[in-house]
Amino acid sequence: MGQRIQGTEDLYGGYMRAWQHMQDVARDLFGAYGFDMIETPAIEQVDTFVHGIGESTDVVRKEMFRVFSGALMDRLLESGSESGLKAKQRMAMRPEGTAGVVRAAVEGNFVPQGGAPVKLWYAEPMFRGERPQKGRLRQFHQVGVEWLGAPDPAADAECIIMLMEFYKRLGFDPSKLKLSINSMGDANCRPAYRDKVRQFILDHADEMCEDCIERAEINPLRSFDCKNDHCREVMKAAPLVTDNLCDDCRDHYAKVKQYLDAAGVSYVEDPTLVRGLDYYTRTVFEVEVEGAGVGAIGGGGRYDGLMELEGGKPTPGIGFAVGFERIALALASQGVSLEGAEPSCVYVACTGADERSAAFDATLALRRAGIRTEADYQGRSLKSQFKQADKLHARVCVVLGSDEVAAGVATLRDMSTHEQVQVPIGELVERVQALLA
Ligand code: AMP
Repeated sequence: MGQRIQGTEDLYGGYMRAWQHMQDVARDLFGAYGFDMIETPAIEQVDTFVHGIGESTDVVRKEMFRVFSGALMDRLLESGSESGLKAKQRMAMRPEGTAGVVRAAVEGNFVPQGGAPVKLWYAEPMFRGERPQKGRLRQFHQVGVEWLGAPDPAADAECIIMLMEFYKRLGFDPSKLKLSINSMGDANCRPAYRDKVRQFILDHADEMCEDCIERAEINPLRSFDCKNDHCREVMKAAPLVTDNLCDDCRDHYAKVKQYLDAAGVSYVEDPTLVRGLDYYTRTVFEVEVEGAGVGAIGGGGRYDGLMELEGGKPTPGIGFAVGFERIALALASQGVSLEGAEPSCVYVACTGADERSAAFDATLALRRAGIRTEADYQGRSLKSQFKQADKLHARVCVVLGSDEVAAGVATLRDMSTHEQVQVPIGELVERVQALLA
């Protein structure tokens, strides 16, 4: 028997309804902010992620699932190296959504020079080869947004405000949410700051883990969120980005905070918040739920250099992504379920084979009117059809016996009160609709 891969989940029943509900809330809310939906392919060229996310990140170095056709795999095994592969043959499952959307925006010229900003949202599975644990999967689902072409700090603030509203609409108690924000500087001020942090790490090399020493050369800022507690402790004395911003970045960050204050959104400033991906510039943010123990339930930031890294013209961008599975876990820890009620239906029961075709017609008529309708397909007794109707949460049962069929009527049984009325078969749909209303 085949087995589900560890760190992946089957989505069905209530869990699937929860994922769909999350998408419905996103569609409504993000729609009001002017976002349209996009879906990019689940596989992209490796280079799309290397350019965007950064060669030095864990996501690209260790966690990306690579994709090879069987024929290509044979060739690779034969040659023992992928150096002969063309860029288009080096493929990976997407580990996050931004790089693919930005690649699509460059390819489709979504934001022509001088054109209006473009706002896109997605709801997609992501794939990362992480060690599976609670709230950490190899295939998980994200809802995310990307807003391309808007340098204004109001865009950063609106993104964050929309994100916090999203959590509220999903059922979170806003007082339990911790929003952390920071500015990571830009191409102007970050290189000098990175050098300072690299020097700090090298000066404290004897106190830091090997990963951090390696990071000092390739991505020193990542040491702020090293998994090793001691490294993080040492990093508390490292130079802070907020003390090293250029005037433009400081001004941008101040305006983002002003807008958040004006909107009454509370936040904490965390000058060590660096986020895992290389592409972020200026504003970054992350949201955690106090006491839920599932890590961040969402985060994002500005990525003004990413369009160029993906081969496009300089175009600012900002976005965020939230993880469905962690949100469901965090909500459950607060006693809130995203699942919603199981859908109810109308059940068409009949007493025997002679009434089956009348039941068939009634079922079709109800479904054509948009009413979720079930019937018996196993030749069960009337009693077990009623039982089945209960199991399916039927609110109304349409009963067709020989007397009813002969008289051209149907009996409607209200499943909660057990009251019954007979209605002409020609009025079936309207009468059922009236009962349901
Ligand atoms: P990131 O792109 O790493 O900032 O992730 C954005 C959000 O996706 C996180 O806040 C989590 O809610 C979720 N997420 C990231 N990685 C995983 C994973 N391996 N399993 C489940 N959810 C994840």
